[in-house]
Amino acid sequence: MNGTSILEISESALRRNLRFLKNLIGQDVKFCSVVKGNAYGHGFSTYIPLAEKCGVDFFAVYNAEEAQQVIRHRTRRSDLMIMGCIGDKLDWVIDNHVSFHVFDINLLEQAVETAVKLNTPARIHLELETGMNRLGLNKTALEEAAVILRSNSSHVIVEGVCTHYAGAESVQNYLRIQQQMQTFREHCEWLRQAGIEYKVRHAASSAAAIIYPESHMEMVRIGIAQYGFWPSEEIRMYYFLKHTDASANHRNDPLRRILRWKSYVMSIKEVEPGEFVGYGTSYLTTRRSRFAVVPVGYSHGFNRNLSNKGHVLINGRRAPVAGIVNMSMIMADVTDCPSVQVGDEVVLIGKQKRMEISVGAFSDLTRFLNYEVLVRLAPAIPRIVVP
Ligand SMILES: *Cc1c(COP(=O)(O)O)cnc(C)c1O
Repeated sequence: MNGTSILEISESALRRNLRFLKNLIGQDVKFCSVVKGNAYGHGFSTYIPLAEKCGVDFFAVYNAEEAQQVIRHRTRRSDLMIMGCIGDKLDWVIDNHVSFHVFDINLLEQAVETAVKLNTPARIHLELETGMNRLGLNKTALEEAAVILRSNSSHVIVEGVCTHYAGAESVQNYLRIQQQMQTFREHCEWLRQAGIEYKVRHAASSAAAIIYPESHMEMVRIGIAQYGFWPSEEIRMYYFLKHTDASANHRNDPLRRILRWKSYVMSIKEVEPGEFVGYGTSYLTTRRSRFAVVPVGYSHGFNRNLSNKGHVLINGRRAPVAGIVNMSMIMADVTDCPSVQVGDEVVLIGKQKRMEISVGAFSDLTRFLNYEVLVRLAPAIPRIVVP
Protein backbone atom coordinates (compact mmCIF):
# COMPACT_ATOMS: atom_id res chain seq x y z
CA MET A 1 0.00 0.00 0.00
CA ASN A 2 1.33 3.37 -1.06
CA GLY A 3 0.82 5.61 1.99
CA THR A 4 -0.81 4.62 5.25
CA SER A 5 -4.34 4.32 3.91
CA ILE A 6 -6.24 4.32 0.64
CA LEU A 7 -9.63 5.51 -0.54
CA GLU A 8 -11.21 3.22 -3.11
CA ILE A 9 -13.81 4.82 -5.37
CA SER A 10 -16.19 2.38 -7.01
CA GLU A 11 -17.06 2.96 -10.65
CA SER A 12 -19.98 0.52 -10.68
CA ALA A 13 -21.53 2.14 -7.60
CA LEU A 14 -21.20 5.57 -9.18
CA ARG A 15 -22.82 4.38 -12.40
CA ARG A 16 -25.67 2.97 -10.40
CA ASN A 17 -26.21 6.19 -8.44
CA LEU A 18 -26.14 8.29 -11.59
CA ARG A 19 -28.62 5.97 -13.30
CA PHE A 20 -30.97 6.21 -10.32
CA LEU A 21 -30.72 10.00 -10.14
CA LYS A 22 -31.12 10.56 -13.86
CA ASN A 23 -34.12 8.30 -13.82
CA LEU A 24 -35.53 10.29 -10.91
CA ILE A 25 -35.20 13.66 -12.63
CA GLY A 26 -36.09 12.49 -16.14
CA GLN A 27 -34.44 13.10 -19.47
CA ASP A 28 -35.39 16.72 -19.87
CA VAL A 29 -33.73 17.95 -16.70
CA LYS A 30 -30.01 18.75 -16.78
CA PHE A 31 -27.81 17.02 -14.20
CA CYS A 32 -25.22 19.23 -12.57
CA SER A 33 -22.69 17.39 -10.41
CA VAL A 34 -21.68 19.37 -7.32
CA VAL A 35 -18.03 18.69 -6.50
CA LYS A 36 -17.12 21.39 -4.01
CA GLY A 37 -14.94 20.38 -1.04
CA ASN A 38 -12.61 18.19 -3.12
CA ALA A 39 -15.61 16.34 -4.57
CA TYR A 40 -16.99 15.81 -1.05
CA GLY A 41 -13.67 14.29 -0.06
CA HIS A 42 -13.58 11.84 -2.96
CA GLY A 43 -10.75 13.81 -4.60
CA PHE A 44 -10.86 15.98 -7.72
CA SER A 45 -8.11 14.11 -9.53
CA THR A 46 -9.95 10.79 -9.21
CA TYR A 47 -13.56 11.86 -9.21
CA ILE A 48 -13.66 14.32 -12.12
CA PRO A 49 -12.31 11.94 -14.81
CA LEU A 50 -14.40 9.07 -13.42
CA ALA A 51 -17.61 11.09 -13.40
CA GLU A 52 -16.92 12.23 -16.96
CA LYS A 53 -16.37 8.62 -17.99
CA CYS A 54 -19.77 7.84 -16.45
CA GLY A 55 -21.48 10.57 -18.47
CA VAL A 56 -21.33 13.71 -16.32
CA ASP A 57 -20.63 16.86 -18.34
CA PHE A 58 -21.47 19.69 -15.94
CA PHE A 59 -19.76 20.39 -12.59
CA ALA A 60 -20.39 22.96 -9.88
CA VAL A 61 -17.80 24.13 -7.37
CA TYR A 62 -17.77 26.69 -4.62
CA ASN A 63 -14.82 28.90 -5.51
CA ALA A 64 -12.38 29.82 -8.27
CA GLU A 65 -9.53 27.72 -6.86
CA GLU A 66 -11.73 24.64 -7.01
CA ALA A 67 -12.69 25.55 -10.57
CA GLN A 68 -9.00 25.62 -11.48
CA GLN A 69 -8.60 22.15 -10.02
CA VAL A 70 -11.56 20.78 -11.96
CA ILE A 71 -10.18 22.22 -15.18
CA ARG A 72 -6.83 20.64 -14.45
CA HIS A 73 -8.42 17.22 -14.04
CA ARG A 74 -11.22 17.19 -16.57
CA THR A 75 -10.71 14.99 -19.61
CA ARG A 76 -13.12 16.82 -21.89
CA ARG A 77 -14.69 20.23 -22.06
CA SER A 78 -17.26 19.68 -19.34
CA ASP A 79 -19.11 22.81 -18.34
CA LEU A 80 -18.24 24.38 -15.03
CA MET A 81 -20.08 26.69 -12.65
CA ILE A 82 -18.85 28.53 -9.54
CA MET A 83 -21.61 28.83 -6.94
CA GLY A 84 -19.75 31.05 -4.50
CA CYS A 85 -16.54 32.95 -4.14
CA ILE A 86 -14.46 34.29 -7.01
CA GLY A 87 -12.13 36.58 -5.09
CA ASP A 88 -9.50 38.13 -7.34
CA LYS A 89 -9.88 35.54 -10.12
CA LEU A 90 -12.65 37.12 -12.18
CA ASP A 91 -10.35 37.62 -15.18
CA TRP A 92 -9.38 33.96 -15.15
CA VAL A 93 -12.99 32.85 -14.72
CA ILE A 94 -14.33 34.86 -17.65
CA ASP A 95 -11.34 34.08 -19.83
CA ASN A 96 -11.92 30.34 -19.27
CA HIS A 97 -15.67 30.56 -19.98
CA VAL A 98 -16.48 29.34 -16.48
CA SER A 99 -19.99 30.40 -15.47
CA PHE A 100 -20.65 31.80 -12.01
CA HIS A 101 -23.39 32.82 -9.61
CA VAL A 102 -24.00 36.53 -9.36
CA PHE A 103 -25.49 37.27 -5.97
CA ASP A 104 -25.05 41.02 -5.69
CA ILE A 105 -24.95 44.13 -7.87
CA ASN A 106 -21.32 44.81 -7.13
CA LEU A 107 -20.32 41.46 -8.66
CA LEU A 108 -22.54 42.08 -11.67
CA GLU A 109 -20.86 45.44 -12.30
CA GLN A 110 -17.43 43.85 -11.99
CA ALA A 111 -18.49 41.11 -14.39
CA VAL A 112 -19.57 43.66 -17.00
CA GLU A 113 -16.37 45.65 -16.58
CA THR A 114 -14.14 42.57 -16.88
CA ALA A 115 -16.07 41.17 -19.83
CA VAL A 116 -15.61 44.46 -21.68
CA LYS A 117 -11.92 44.57 -20.81
CA LEU A 118 -11.32 40.98 -21.99
CA ASN A 119 -13.72 41.25 -24.89
CA THR A 120 -15.23 37.94 -23.75
CA PRO A 121 -18.79 37.62 -22.50
CA ALA A 122 -19.31 36.72 -18.84
CA ARG A 123 -21.54 33.66 -18.37
CA ILE A 124 -23.61 34.22 -15.26
CA HIS A 125 -26.32 32.63 -13.16
CA LEU A 126 -28.46 35.18 -11.35
CA GLU A 127 -28.83 33.94 -7.80
CA LEU A 128 -32.11 35.10 -6.32
CA GLU A 129 -32.87 35.73 -2.67
CA THR A 130 -35.99 33.72 -1.94
CA GLY A 131 -35.90 33.34 1.82
CA MET A 132 -32.67 31.69 2.89
CA ASN A 133 -31.22 35.14 3.55
CA ARG A 134 -27.66 34.14 2.78
CA LEU A 135 -26.64 35.04 -0.78
CA GLY A 136 -28.85 36.38 -3.52
CA LEU A 137 -30.48 39.36 -5.19
CA ASN A 138 -33.67 40.56 -3.55
CA LYS A 139 -36.42 42.07 -5.67
CA THR A 140 -35.00 45.61 -5.58
CA ALA A 141 -31.53 44.39 -6.54
CA LEU A 142 -33.07 42.25 -9.26
CA GLU A 143 -34.74 45.29 -10.79
CA GLU A 144 -31.40 47.06 -10.76
CA ALA A 145 -29.72 43.99 -12.29
CA ALA A 146 -32.30 43.89 -15.09
CA VAL A 147 -31.40 47.45 -16.07
CA ILE A 148 -27.68 46.63 -16.14
CA LEU A 149 -28.30 43.42 -18.10
CA ARG A 150 -30.47 45.11 -20.72
CA SER A 151 -27.78 47.62 -21.55
CA ASN A 152 -24.96 45.04 -21.55
CA SER A 153 -26.53 42.07 -23.29
CA SER A 154 -23.51 41.54 -25.52
CA HIS A 155 -21.16 41.34 -22.53
CA VAL A 156 -23.20 39.22 -20.17
CA ILE A 157 -24.94 35.94 -21.00
CA VAL A 158 -27.50 34.85 -18.43
CA GLU A 159 -26.98 31.10 -18.47
CA GLY A 160 -29.28 30.51 -15.57
CA VAL A 161 -31.39 31.83 -12.74
CA CYS A 162 -31.07 30.03 -9.43
CA THR A 163 -31.72 29.94 -5.75
CA HIS A 164 -30.90 27.68 -2.81
CA TYR A 165 -33.33 26.20 -0.31
CA ALA A 166 -32.84 26.64 3.42
CA GLY A 167 -32.71 22.99 4.47
CA ALA A 168 -34.78 20.79 2.15
CA GLU A 169 -33.36 17.72 3.93
CA SER A 170 -35.57 18.34 6.95
CA VAL A 171 -39.38 18.13 6.95
CA GLN A 172 -39.58 20.83 9.58
CA ASN A 173 -38.58 23.34 6.91
CA TYR A 174 -41.43 22.30 4.60
CA LEU A 175 -43.39 25.56 4.71
CA ARG A 176 -40.33 27.72 4.35
CA ILE A 177 -39.24 25.75 1.26
CA GLN A 178 -42.72 25.97 -0.28
CA GLN A 179 -42.62 29.72 0.23
CA GLN A 180 -39.17 29.88 -1.39
CA MET A 181 -40.37 27.90 -4.41
CA GLN A 182 -43.26 30.28 -4.86
CA THR A 183 -41.03 33.37 -4.62
CA PHE A 184 -38.52 31.82 -7.00
CA ARG A 185 -41.18 31.16 -9.64
CA GLU A 186 -42.54 34.68 -9.30
CA HIS A 187 -39.15 36.33 -9.64
CA CYS A 188 -38.16 34.13 -12.60
CA GLU A 189 -41.39 35.11 -14.27
CA TRP A 190 -40.80 38.77 -13.50
CA LEU A 191 -37.37 38.53 -15.18
CA ARG A 192 -38.91 37.07 -18.34
CA GLN A 193 -41.46 39.84 -18.43
CA ALA A 194 -38.67 42.34 -17.96
CA GLY A 195 -37.15 40.95 -21.15
CA ILE A 196 -34.21 39.13 -19.58
CA GLU A 197 -33.55 35.89 -21.44
CA TYR A 198 -32.08 32.92 -19.57
CA LYS A 199 -31.53 29.27 -20.42
CA VAL A 200 -32.22 27.33 -17.23
CA ARG A 201 -33.72 27.72 -13.79
CA HIS A 202 -32.13 25.65 -11.03
CA ALA A 203 -32.77 25.36 -7.32
CA ALA A 204 -32.86 21.73 -6.19
CA SER A 205 -30.04 20.00 -4.34
CA SER A 206 -30.14 16.25 -3.61
CA ALA A 207 -32.82 16.50 -0.93
CA ALA A 208 -35.16 18.73 -2.91
CA ALA A 209 -34.61 16.66 -6.05
CA ILE A 210 -35.71 13.54 -4.17
CA ILE A 211 -38.71 14.86 -2.24
CA TYR A 212 -39.95 17.86 -4.26
CA PRO A 213 -40.24 16.85 -7.94
CA GLU A 214 -41.79 20.25 -8.66
CA SER A 215 -38.44 21.83 -7.72
CA HIS A 216 -36.51 20.22 -10.60
CA MET A 217 -37.20 22.89 -13.23
CA GLU A 218 -34.57 22.73 -16.00
CA MET A 219 -31.56 21.68 -13.93
CA VAL A 220 -30.73 20.13 -10.54
CA ARG A 221 -27.52 20.53 -8.57
CA ILE A 222 -26.76 17.16 -7.05
CA GLY A 223 -24.01 16.77 -4.48
CA ILE A 224 -24.20 14.15 -1.74
CA ALA A 225 -26.56 11.69 -3.47
CA GLN A 226 -24.25 10.97 -6.41
CA TYR A 227 -21.64 9.75 -3.90
CA GLY A 228 -24.26 7.35 -2.59
CA PHE A 229 -25.42 9.10 0.57
CA TRP A 230 -28.92 10.16 1.51
CA PRO A 231 -28.94 13.85 2.49
CA SER A 232 -30.59 12.86 5.78
CA GLU A 233 -32.40 9.93 7.42
CA GLU A 234 -35.69 11.74 6.83
CA ILE A 235 -35.14 11.86 3.08
CA ARG A 236 -34.24 8.20 3.03
CA MET A 237 -37.38 7.27 4.97
CA TYR A 238 -39.49 9.46 2.71
CA TYR A 239 -38.12 7.74 -0.37
CA PHE A 240 -38.72 4.24 0.97
CA LEU A 241 -42.24 5.07 2.14
CA LYS A 242 -43.10 6.54 -1.25
CA HIS A 243 -41.71 3.55 -3.09
CA THR A 244 -43.36 0.73 -1.23
CA ASP A 245 -42.16 -1.74 -3.85
CA ALA A 246 -38.71 -1.20 -2.39
CA SER A 247 -38.67 -2.34 1.23
CA ALA A 248 -36.29 -0.31 3.32
CA ASN A 249 -33.29 -2.54 3.53
CA HIS A 250 -29.85 -1.81 2.24
CA ARG A 251 -29.93 -4.49 -0.45
CA ASN A 252 -32.39 -2.56 -2.56
CA ASP A 253 -31.18 0.86 -1.52
CA PRO A 254 -30.90 2.64 -4.88
CA LEU A 255 -27.87 4.55 -3.62
CA ARG A 256 -24.53 2.85 -3.12
CA ARG A 257 -21.70 4.47 -1.20
CA ILE A 258 -18.93 4.76 -3.74
CA LEU A 259 -16.13 5.21 -1.24
CA ARG A 260 -14.25 2.69 0.86
CA TRP A 261 -11.44 3.71 3.22
CA LYS A 262 -8.91 1.07 4.12
CA SER A 263 -5.60 0.80 5.92
CA TYR A 264 -3.70 -2.08 7.45
CA VAL A 265 -2.38 -3.40 10.75
CA MET A 266 0.99 -1.78 11.28
CA SER A 267 1.90 -3.46 14.56
CA ILE A 268 0.37 -5.64 17.28
CA LYS A 269 0.75 -4.99 20.99
CA GLU A 270 -0.04 -7.41 23.79
CA VAL A 271 -0.86 -5.82 27.15
CA GLU A 272 -1.36 -7.26 30.64
CA PRO A 273 -4.58 -6.56 32.64
CA GLY A 274 -4.70 -3.33 34.67
CA GLU A 275 -2.57 -1.25 32.25
CA PHE A 276 -3.39 2.07 30.61
CA VAL A 277 -3.14 2.09 26.84
CA GLY A 278 -2.05 5.04 24.72
CA TYR A 279 -2.10 8.67 25.88
CA GLY A 280 -3.40 9.37 29.36
CA THR A 281 -5.73 7.20 31.34
CA SER A 282 -8.84 6.90 29.20
CA TYR A 283 -8.36 3.20 28.45
CA LEU A 284 -7.59 0.62 31.11
CA THR A 285 -7.24 -3.06 30.25
CA THR A 286 -9.39 -5.43 32.28
CA ARG A 287 -7.93 -8.59 30.80
CA ARG A 288 -4.89 -9.70 28.87
CA SER A 289 -5.45 -7.79 25.62
CA ARG A 290 -4.22 -7.52 22.05
CA PHE A 291 -4.27 -4.28 20.13
CA ALA A 292 -3.77 -3.58 16.45
CA VAL A 293 -2.01 -0.29 15.73
CA VAL A 294 -3.47 1.32 12.59
CA PRO A 295 -1.59 4.21 10.92
CA VAL A 296 -4.61 6.53 10.55
CA GLY A 297 -5.53 9.38 12.87
CA TYR A 298 -7.31 12.70 13.04
CA SER A 299 -4.84 14.28 10.60
CA HIS A 300 -6.31 11.96 7.96
CA GLY A 301 -9.90 12.68 8.90
CA PHE A 302 -10.55 9.99 11.52
CA ASN A 303 -12.31 12.20 14.02
CA ARG A 304 -10.87 12.51 17.51
CA ASN A 305 -14.41 12.18 18.91
CA LEU A 306 -14.24 8.52 17.95
CA SER A 307 -11.78 7.94 20.79
CA ASN A 308 -13.02 4.92 22.79
CA LYS A 309 -16.22 4.98 20.68
CA GLY A 310 -15.60 4.16 17.04
CA HIS A 311 -14.99 0.81 15.39
CA VAL A 312 -12.92 -0.51 12.52
CA LEU A 313 -13.26 -3.78 10.61
CA ILE A 314 -10.47 -6.35 10.71
CA ASN A 315 -10.88 -9.86 9.31
CA GLY A 316 -14.58 -9.21 8.86
CA ARG A 317 -15.15 -8.31 12.50
CA ARG A 318 -15.80 -5.08 14.35
CA ALA A 319 -12.89 -4.03 16.54
CA PRO A 320 -13.46 -1.13 18.95
CA VAL A 321 -11.15 1.88 18.95
CA ALA A 322 -9.19 1.66 22.19
CA GLY A 323 -8.06 4.90 23.79
CA ILE A 324 -7.54 8.30 22.22
CA VAL A 325 -7.40 8.85 18.45
CA ASN A 326 -3.90 10.22 17.82
CA MET A 327 -2.84 12.54 15.05
CA SER A 328 -1.60 9.66 12.87
CA MET A 329 -2.56 6.45 14.67
CA ILE A 330 -5.35 4.60 16.35
CA MET A 331 -5.37 1.36 18.33
CA ALA A 332 -8.09 -1.22 17.91
CA ASP A 333 -8.87 -3.92 20.46
CA VAL A 334 -8.48 -7.26 18.68
CA THR A 335 -8.40 -9.48 21.75
CA ASP A 336 -11.49 -11.26 20.45
CA CYS A 337 -10.08 -11.88 17.00
CA PRO A 338 -6.85 -13.69 17.77
CA SER A 339 -6.00 -14.42 14.14
CA VAL A 340 -5.24 -10.76 13.35
CA GLN A 341 -1.71 -10.24 12.06
CA VAL A 342 0.51 -7.39 10.98
CA GLY A 343 -0.39 -6.45 7.39
CA ASP A 344 -4.07 -7.43 7.64
CA GLU A 345 -6.52 -5.08 5.96
CA VAL A 346 -8.35 -2.61 8.21
CA VAL A 347 -11.52 -0.94 6.94
CA LEU A 348 -12.35 2.45 8.44
CA ILE A 349 -15.34 3.20 6.17
CA GLY A 350 -17.10 0.68 3.97
CA LYS A 351 -17.52 -3.06 3.71
CA GLN A 352 -15.33 -5.95 4.69
CA LYS A 353 -16.73 -9.41 4.16
CA ARG A 354 -20.30 -9.16 5.49
CA MET A 355 -19.71 -6.22 7.82
CA GLU A 356 -19.94 -2.54 7.01
CA ILE A 357 -19.00 0.70 8.72
CA SER A 358 -21.06 3.47 7.24
CA VAL A 359 -20.22 7.14 7.21
CA GLY A 360 -23.56 7.45 8.96
CA ALA A 361 -22.36 5.38 11.92
CA PHE A 362 -19.30 7.54 11.97
CA SER A 363 -21.34 10.70 11.99
CA ASP A 364 -23.84 9.46 14.59
CA LEU A 365 -20.98 8.96 17.01
CA THR A 366 -19.33 12.27 16.31
CA ARG A 367 -22.52 14.27 15.70
CA PHE A 368 -20.92 15.34 12.45
CA LEU A 369 -22.93 15.37 9.25
CA ASN A 370 -22.11 12.88 6.49
CA TYR A 371 -20.91 15.90 4.60
CA GLU A 372 -18.43 16.88 7.29
CA VAL A 373 -16.99 13.41 7.71
CA LEU A 374 -16.41 13.23 3.96
CA VAL A 375 -14.77 16.61 3.45
CA ARG A 376 -12.38 15.95 6.31
CA LEU A 377 -10.82 13.00 4.49
CA ALA A 378 -7.31 14.35 3.95
CA PRO A 379 -6.48 15.30 0.35
CA ALA A 380 -3.14 13.51 0.73
CA ILE A 381 -4.74 10.05 1.05
CA PRO A 382 -4.31 8.29 -2.30
CA ARG A 383 -7.59 7.67 -4.13
CA ILE A 384 -7.94 4.81 -6.56
CA VAL A 385 -10.76 3.76 -8.84
CA VAL A 386 -11.97 0.19 -8.40
CA PRO A 387 -14.56 -1.59 -10.59
C1 LIG B 1 -23.60 22.04 -1.88
C2 LIG B 1 -24.63 22.64 -2.71
C3 LIG B 1 -25.53 21.85 -3.44
C4 LIG B 1 -25.57 20.33 -3.35
O1 LIG B 1 -26.16 19.94 -2.14
P1 LIG B 1 -26.35 18.38 -1.78
O2 LIG B 1 -27.21 18.40 -0.57
O3 LIG B 1 -25.00 17.83 -1.49
O4 LIG B 1 -26.97 17.74 -2.95
C5 LIG B 1 -26.43 22.50 -4.27
N1 LIG B 1 -26.45 23.85 -4.36
C6 LIG B 1 -25.62 24.64 -3.66
C7 LIG B 1 -25.69 26.12 -3.81
C8 LIG B 1 -24.68 24.07 -2.81
O5 LIG B 1 -23.85 24.85 -2.12
